[in-house]
Amino acid sequence: MLKTHNCGELRACDAGSTVTLAGWVHRRRDHGGLMFFDLRDRSGIVQVVCDGSSPPEVREAASTLRPEYVVQVKGRVLRRPEGLENPDLPTGEVEVAAAELTVLNPSRTPVFYINEDSEIDEALRLRYRYLDLRRPRLQRNLILRHRTVKFIRDFLSERGFVEIETPMLIRSTPEGARDYVVPSRLHPGCFYALPQSPQQLKQLLMVAGFERYFQIARCMRDEDQRADRQPEFTQLDLEMSFVDREDVLELVESLFTALVPTVSDRRILQVPFPRLSYQEAIARYGSDKPDLRFGLELVDLTPLAAESSFQIFRQAVAAGGAVKGMRLPGCAGYSRKQIQELTDLAVKNGAKGLVWIARTADEVRSPLSRAVGEGEMQALVQALALEPGDLGLLVADDARVASLVLGALRSELGPRLTALDDRVLAFAWVLDFPLLEWNAEEGRWQAVHHPFTAPLDEDLPYLETDPGRVRAKAYDIVANGYEVGGGSIRIHRREVQERMFRVLGLGDEEARAQFGHLLEAFEFGAPPHGGIAPGIDRLVMLLAGEPNIREVIAFPKTQRAADLMLGAPAPISERQLEELGLLVRVEKRANPA
Ligand code: ASP
Repeated sequence: MLKTHNCGELRACDAGSTVTLAGWVHRRRDHGGLMFFDLRDRSGIVQVVCDGSSPPEVREAASTLRPEYVVQVKGRVLRRPEGLENPDLPTGEVEVAAAELTVLNPSRTPVFYINEDSEIDEALRLRYRYLDLRRPRLQRNLILRHRTVKFIRDFLSERGFVEIETPMLIRSTPEGARDYVVPSRLHPGCFYALPQSPQQLKQLLMVAGFERYFQIARCMRDEDQRADRQPEFTQLDLEMSFVDREDVLELVESLFTALVPTVSDRRILQVPFPRLSYQEAIARYGSDKPDLRFGLELVDLTPLAAESSFQIFRQAVAAGGAVKGMRLPGCAGYSRKQIQELTDLAVKNGAKGLVWIARTADEVRSPLSRAVGEGEMQALVQALALEPGDLGLLVADDARVASLVLGALRSELGPRLTALDDRVLAFAWVLDFPLLEWNAEEGRWQAVHHPFTAPLDEDLPYLETDPGRVRAKAYDIVANGYEVGGGSIRIHRREVQERMFRVLGLGDEEARAQFGHLLEAFEFGAPPHGGIAPGIDRLVMLLAGEPNIREVIAFPKTQRAADLMLGAPAPISERQLEELGLLVRVEKRANPA
C-alpha cells in the first residue's frame, strides 16, 4: 500500500507516530513560511503542515500543490498547539508534519469545487460524474447503498433465500413498458429483449423447486422518464413458494423494520405498517401511493351534494359522480392568486373546476354563496369540519377523478402545510388492487400489475364476464408518497393463465408463441408462489433523504435516457451494422434525443 493510515482516522492517540498518507489535496493555505493543506481520502480529511523545520524539497513540492493533486505524505502526527484545534473535524486535534512529500499525479483545475457543497448544474455533474462522485454527498449515498444491499443479502440469506442470477439477454417479459432490444449477430433479424424484470424467470425458479429466491436485479424499461425513474434501475427481486400474501408482507415488513435503523438515521412512523385497500387509498387520499406523514384526508360530500341547490353539484351526482372535499387548516386567508394556483393545479389534473369555502373568525366566504342558502353552506362547513381560519376545497366529477384531483392537491399542499420531519418514513401497504384496467385508446383490458398476477379466488368467476370488478392478489409497499415496490401471489395453473391471456386480448396461438415456456412449465408441478420487488434506488433515495434516484446511482442517465459522460447512446460503425445484418433508417422526429 502507498499508505499506512487513512486520513480521516487519525486521532490524538496517534500523536508521535509516523504515518504515510495518500490522497487528494482538498484545500491549501499558504502563509509564507508556513503552509497547510488538507489531505483527503475516502475516510475524511487531515491537516498537513509544512514549516521552516520541513526539508527544503518538501517545502518546494508543497508550493506547487493545487486542489485535487494526488500526493503521498510521510510525517509525524502531532497534537495541534492548544487553541488551534478544529472541533468541526474528527481529526481536528492533530496535524501531520510533512517529512516527505511526493506528487503522485497533478490535476487540472476541477470543473467544479470538490471541496464545497455548492449547487452545480446537473448536466455538468453528470458529464464529470467521477468528480461529482468525489464529493461527500455522493460518497455518503453510495456507501449507504452498499450497506443497504449488504444488509438485505445477509437478512435474506439467514432466512433461507438463495441468490440466483438470471440472464440479461432474454425474451420480452412485460411489465407495461417498452423493451430495450439487442440485435443478434448469430440470428440475423432476431432480437433479445433486456429484462424489464426477472418476473418469468423467478417464477420458473419456483417451478424448479428453489422455494426462496432473491436477486439484486437490474431492470431495463424504455419509458418516459420522471424524477424517480431511470431507464435502468435495480430491484430487490424476490419470490417464495407455498406462501400466501401474509407471508410476503411479513417478510418485507420485518426486513424494512430491521434495515432502516441499522443503515440510516431514519425512523419508521408506524409498525406494523398500516394497510389500505386500493379503493380506500383512492377514496381517502386520492392516490394509490398515499403520503401518510400528514392527514388532509378527503371527505365525501356526495350525499349532501345530491340535494344541493348548486346545479353543478346536483348534476355531477345525478350522472353517477361524486363531490369530494378537503380541509386545509389555517388557509382561509389564501389570496385570489393562491386560489387561482390551486385551481390551475386541479384543472391540470383533470378537474373542470375547483370550489372553495373560507371560514374566518366571523364569516364564511365562498363563490358558492351565490348558489346555496345558509343552511346548506353550514352543512358543508360542518361536513368538511372547517374551523375558523380553514379553507375547504371541493371538486365535483366522476368519483375517481374528483379523488385523484384532490389527491394531487393534497400531495402538493401536505408538505407545505405540515412541519414534516424528513427523518420519518411512513411505510404502508396498499392491497386489493384491481386486476385489470380498461385501455380506452387500444380498446382492450390490460393488467394493472402484470399478466402473471393471480385474481382473488372469489373474483375468479368474473374474469370473463365482468373483468373490471376482479381484484388481484397484489400489493404495493409505499412510503412518503412513493411506490417503493409491488408484488403479488401469482397464477400457477395453466388454464387460469390462459384465461388471463385471453382476457388481455392475446390469442391462444400468440400466447403460446410468447409465453409457451411458462404455460408448459405450469404443467410440470408448479407450486403456488408469490413475491415482490422493492426498488433499491427508491429505497436508498428515501433512506438518504434525497429528492431523486439519480443521487443514489453511481452513473445515472438524464431524463432523456442519455449518459453524458460516456456519450451513450451513440451510433455504431458500418462494420458492426453489417455483422448484425442491420440497415439503419433514421426518421426525423419532432423531438430528437
Ligand atoms: N416484477 C414485478 C415488478 O417489476 C414485481 C413482482 O411482481 O414481483 O414490478
